[in-house]
Amino acid sequence: MEYETVIGLEVHTQLKTKSKIFCGCSTTFGAPPNSHTCPVCLGMPGVLPVLNREVVTCAIKLGLATRCTVNRSSRWARKNYFYPDLPKAYQISQYEAPICEHGYVEADLESGETRRIGLTRIHMEEDAGKNVHGAADDDHSYVDLNRAGVPLLEIVSEPDIRSSEEATAYLKRLRSIVRYLGISDGNMEEGSFRCDANVSIRPMGSDTFGTRAEVKNLNSFRHVAHAIDYEARRQARLLAQGKEVVQETRLWNTAEGKTYSMRSKEEAHDYRYFPDPDLVPLEISEQWIEAVRATLPELPADKEQRFVVEYGLPPQDAATLVASHHLADYFETVAGAVKEAKRAANWVLGELLAVLNKLGISVEESPVEAAALAALIRLIEEETISGKIAKSVFEKMVATGKAPAAIVEEEGLVQVADPEALRPIIQQVFDDNPTQLAQYQAGKTKLMGFFVGQTMRATGGKANPALVNKLLREMLPEPTAPADGG
Ligand code: ADP
Ligand code: MG
Ligand code: ZN
Repeated sequence: MEYETVIGLEVHTQLKTKSKIFCGCSTTFGAPPNSHTCPVCLGMPGVLPVLNREVVTCAIKLGLATRCTVNRSSRWARKNYFYPDLPKAYQISQYEAPICEHGYVEADLESGETRRIGLTRIHMEEDAGKNVHGAADDDHSYVDLNRAGVPLLEIVSEPDIRSSEEATAYLKRLRSIVRYLGISDGNMEEGSFRCDANVSIRPMGSDTFGTRAEVKNLNSFRHVAHAIDYEARRQARLLAQGKEVVQETRLWNTAEGKTYSMRSKEEAHDYRYFPDPDLVPLEISEQWIEAVRATLPELPADKEQRFVVEYGLPPQDAATLVASHHLADYFETVAGAVKEAKRAANWVLGELLAVLNKLGISVEESPVEAAALAALIRLIEEETISGKIAKSVFEKMVATGKAPAAIVEEEGLVQVADPEALRPIIQQVFDDNPTQLAQYQAGKTKLMGFFVGQTMRATGGKANPALVNKLLREMLPEPTAPADGG
């Protein structure tokens, strides 16, 4: 039996507001435990939450960016559960009336295809604190409430995703969007972008959904993909054995590459949601929504489209460039300062990304600034240096931070594009290689490549390759026998 995998993702993204969602405490990460707390986020009796306006603005931004309906009226709900990191014993969230609904995200696949993934809802909520186990040299557990009350947006997708590849593409695009909007760091490893994956399978061609398992504890794109693939295999194995998939919450174990049952449906939390009586329903004016709309930057999908049209880039190249708006900006600076945008894209996607990956840094920390890379590319376009020499100049720019012109000057790398300088060099190559010259004349015209190589070597790679080819065609003897191709 062949099965299709069905996936719906729930993403929690931590907002970059200065203060928490319902009190004035700082959201700064890494402070001493419990130093960013007050009676409100500690859940003391008698306190009242006061909504941080900026959180709503962030939610409207994301809602508009993902083509959601932004509801003019939404409601706060209490989600009740008991855990040491939740001092009030409930989390303030939104439930039956979320701020945003019915949007979509368009994700690019490796194949160049685009998938539209529906969003069921986006809602605002507060984060819980953190239980810390085994931090000290004792067997106690500790609770740090610095994170309690930090604002989150939860983004719930429709079960529109069909493979781990699509899930990864969706998550990457969603992360790009929150980063473009400047509302979240989107950092999965640091927990500011967290994902739970709901996975089920069904026979190919079926139009009803199978029973899903929800996998938690996924803190990298790779883990999400592995967990989805593992779940699809596990569920197919169960069905093949005539067993049933049970609806449950499972945990991803990175070390083993497996999921484990955490709690079954019977033990599932009954959150007893109800409207929070401490907070009035949230009413958003049309003017507020329009004011936020006016601040939206160009988003990845639009930028990608523009790069294809304006610069003539292949869609995959455009997709890679727009994944980070810093990379996109870098590319546009380079492209704007050289003749051929395509060449700028090749350098950014090739040499630059290779160096950044090797150094493990982002483009904002690049040792070569966009203006310097543009200056290097101009040296190629002006035929001062060859593309090959340019690569070695680029390496030196990375190592020394020097300007390309200075490196070319110091190392005498200027391209030899003067026929009068090249002719004697080619003559010398002929004199040094009489056997090959005779073979060429006898019809072995494939030796052309050999003479090009020898000439390039004799000039330390500095000869203009097009000119070398042209001069060789002039200076090589006419083959007497028909070419044997050998
Ligand atoms: P819960 O509160 O139990 O997590 P939600 O209604 O919020 O339930 O849905 C959670 C996620 O599960 C959504 O992303 C949805 O798309 C996904 N989902 C629902 N049914 C299935 C299914 N049969 N297979 C895979 N994913 C599903
Ligand atoms: Mg869920
Ligand atoms: Zn507080």
